[in-house]
Amino acid sequence: MQHAIIIGAGYAGVALANLLAKAGLTVDVYEKNDVPGGRIAAVHQDGFTFEVGPSWYLMPEVFEHYYGLFGASAEKRLELQRLSPGYRVFFESSDPLTIQGSTEHDASTFEMIEPGAGETLRRYVANAKIAYDISLKHFLYTNFERPIELLAPNVLANAPRMLTLALRPLDSHVRRYFTDSRLQRILEYHMVFLGSSPYDAPSLYTLMSTLDFTTGVYYPKAGMYKLIGDLIALGDATKITYHYGAEVKQIDVKRQRAEGITLSDGSSHAADIVISAADLHFTETSLLPPAARTYNENYWQKRIPGPSGLVISLGINGSLPQLLHHNLYFVDDWRGNFTAIYDDKSIPENASMYVCNPTKSDPSLAPKGTENIFILVPFPSGVALSAEETDALAAKYTRAFAAAINEPDLESRIITRHVMGPTDFAERYNAWQYNAFGGESHLLKQSAFFRTKNKSRKLKNLYYTGAGTLPGIGLPMCLISAELTYKRICGIKSGAPLEAIS
Ligand SMILES: Cc1cc2nc3c(=O)[nH]c(=O)nc-3n(C[C@H](O)[C@H](O)[C@H](O)COP(=O)(O)OP(=O)(O)OC[C@H]3O[C@@H](n4cnc5c(N)ncnc54)[C@H](O)[C@@H]3O)c2cc1C
Repeated sequence: MQHAIIIGAGYAGVALANLLAKAGLTVDVYEKNDVPGGRIAAVHQDGFTFEVGPSWYLMPEVFEHYYGLFGASAEKRLELQRLSPGYRVFFESSDPLTIQGSTEHDASTFEMIEPGAGETLRRYVANAKIAYDISLKHFLYTNFERPIELLAPNVLANAPRMLTLALRPLDSHVRRYFTDSRLQRILEYHMVFLGSSPYDAPSLYTLMSTLDFTTGVYYPKAGMYKLIGDLIALGDATKITYHYGAEVKQIDVKRQRAEGITLSDGSSHAADIVISAADLHFTETSLLPPAARTYNENYWQKRIPGPSGLVISLGINGSLPQLLHHNLYFVDDWRGNFTAIYDDKSIPENASMYVCNPTKSDPSLAPKGTENIFILVPFPSGVALSAEETDALAAKYTRAFAAAINEPDLESRIITRHVMGPTDFAERYNAWQYNAFGGESHLLKQSAFFRTKNKSRKLKNLYYTGAGTLPGIGLPMCLISAELTYKRICGIKSGAPLEAIS
């Protein structure tokens, strides 16, 4: 029986621990923080449970596939509920729009805004679904070790379409279908969550609209934080040991092999296989000696991280009836906001934001008679802010949000507040350039076969998993990432989702 060490108990690290344990390995997971989850995090303050990480449960079939490997159902264990409507969008200079999450319903909303846009939405979503299905089947579960598999009949049949989508930026793609800027933005906003801009990211990510208009948005009863506890519970506790407050200081290297790890308390721990589920830049440049690095500082200087962010959690007296569970606020200067974040690397003056009000679905997250909201403002990567600057920006964006939803007395209704800024991401997760989502931005040159690989080229038994490597950012991608690393370790070259663990 082999022994594996995993660095980091984030979603991907735990997902991989489960897979390896099911295959018969013993696994020790070392996590620097006192709790598991990494970027899935919650803060308990003054009777409120503030989730300060992921809030959208997307791509439910990916969770089902992973849970299925353990003979379990994610839908049942997590008590998923479909959110209907899906979300509401507030605009700086026009009335809000509500997206139901069904093409039929949303086509009428689109039609009201732009004549003909209802039928166009049906066509747009049908095309997005083709890209989604091909990507899920052929491009997400693969380490690209068997290129011949990419010549499958439906990939070949759709090659011109997929190539065009890969080469054309999302914004140009959307403009070919819709002229109203509000509709365009509804089809582009996802790029923020994939760490990129619609002006730079390939229009392959049109596939995200399939989730908005057909699959829908789900929420696990008891909150997103439940995901990490449940993932741990899914694993074999007799084979996996979690060590919290255990910061890894170095990966011990001998003769082109990772011998094990050394913790900051000086203790060393040997293993047959070492996997880092921490941010890849940190792993490569801080845990490994220079000669053992596959990706040195020069490499990272040519790569582009996803954005950082400001996460403002507010406990509010009373209710905000104009909000749904998920809400977006889009500024008029849509392009200027992306330019500030990705090109100028400046803190946006006027920022688009995402606002979650989970108490709409789960009142237990706040004391009776109050609500709990979370405002996410995307920031450029690489910009450090002091605690005072972070606080001042939080106050400024809270005022902007209050104006956007027409709640002038919002500030006076704040009972408690928790703020997390770029430096918190670095301190808590060793995040590369303060990035919020865990990895490289989803540009074409950093997607699929171009993404940073999940195996060291220098050390035979060192692997990587998580949002920084294949296939990318977000919780469903982390589950797939764990599966891809598992395949690498076991020498499984197939690009198809695993049917079983043996
Ligand atoms: C505010 C916010 C909103 C988001 N919204 C969504 C969403 O709605 N939907 C979605 O799907 N995704 C969302 N994401 C993205 C998603 O949360 C991440 O992509 C994902 O959680 C990354 O998981 P990971 O396992 O790769 O990395 P992490 O969660 O960062 O896990 C890595 C772990 O390694 C640990 N570690 C680091 N260094 C060391 C060390 N030296 N020793 C030991 N341990 C170490 C860290 O503490 C951490 O626990 C959001 C993220 C944020 C921050």
